[in-house]
Amino acid sequence: MVRADRVRKSFGRLEVLKSVDLSVEAGEVVCMIGRSGSGKSTFLRCINHLERIDGGRLWVDGEVVGYRQRGNRLHELRAKEIARRRTEIGMVFQHFNLFPHKTVLENLIEAPRLVLKEPRDVATDRAIDLLGKVGLASKAKAYPRQLSGGQQQRVAIARALCMRPKLMLFDEPTSALDPELIGEVLDVMRDLADTGMTMVVVTHEMGFARDVADRVVFFDEGRIIEDGPAAQVINDPVHERTRAFVKAVR
Ligand code: ATP
Ligand code: MG
Repeated sequence: MVRADRVRKSFGRLEVLKSVDLSVEAGEVVCMIGRSGSGKSTFLRCINHLERIDGGRLWVDGEVVGYRQRGNRLHELRAKEIARRRTEIGMVFQHFNLFPHKTVLENLIEAPRLVLKEPRDVATDRAIDLLGKVGLASKAKAYPRQLSGGQQQRVAIARALCMRPKLMLFDEPTSALDPELIGEVLDVMRDLADTGMTMVVVTHEMGFARDVADRVVFFDEGRIIEDGPAAQVINDPVHERTRAFVKAVR
């Protein structure tokens, strides 16, 4: 579903991604860990067409990110086509970015109606179904400010799922939450993983990574230097630098 081959990205003279190699199969859950500034968010943004890579190649679902392939030739995509492809990828951030002046239900049906052109009743039925799945069936008419942080983040996940994404990216979805609210969001993510969704999750929740992820990868200074089964990377990492990191966050 995702393949990165020596992906490079710089901001000015700062080389943030030096050479990232990664492969995520359909249905896999991969957790990304690593120090602040190691390039995790930048890499997710590259997958989601929010940043352009400077070198290497990146594929999502067999398509080269940013390009259309014809034979051996790559043709750069227009903004409209990039926007369309982006709708196939769900992204959940640390901050929930819900529309504050819209109800929960309106937040959920906005993109399906405007982007997928779904009729209101179709979008609404699906939104209500998804709200049930994240445990918020009773909150459809509430406004974001009336919800806890954990509830808002569950709404954000449901909103992403309303677009029927083929891939879900999470960038530290629980790191802005009070500790007692983290579990409810991780439970929703666990249920989503059980449905077979392909997920790439930046998180420092080691318990979640160990239980839910198929693999854990460790980012270090713009490279993935360790990639293996979750339990192995967390409990018995190969690299000294991974070992130090895991010990520090545990
Ligand atoms: P954290 O754990 O703190 O979220 P991260 O691994 O997600 O860190 P990134 O956000 O990818 O790290 O940032 C990697 C580096 O790139 C940092 O030094 C950051 O300051 C820099 N950077 C990120 N985005 C930009 C940008 N748009 N312009 C310039 N520099 C940037
Ligand atoms: Mg980040």
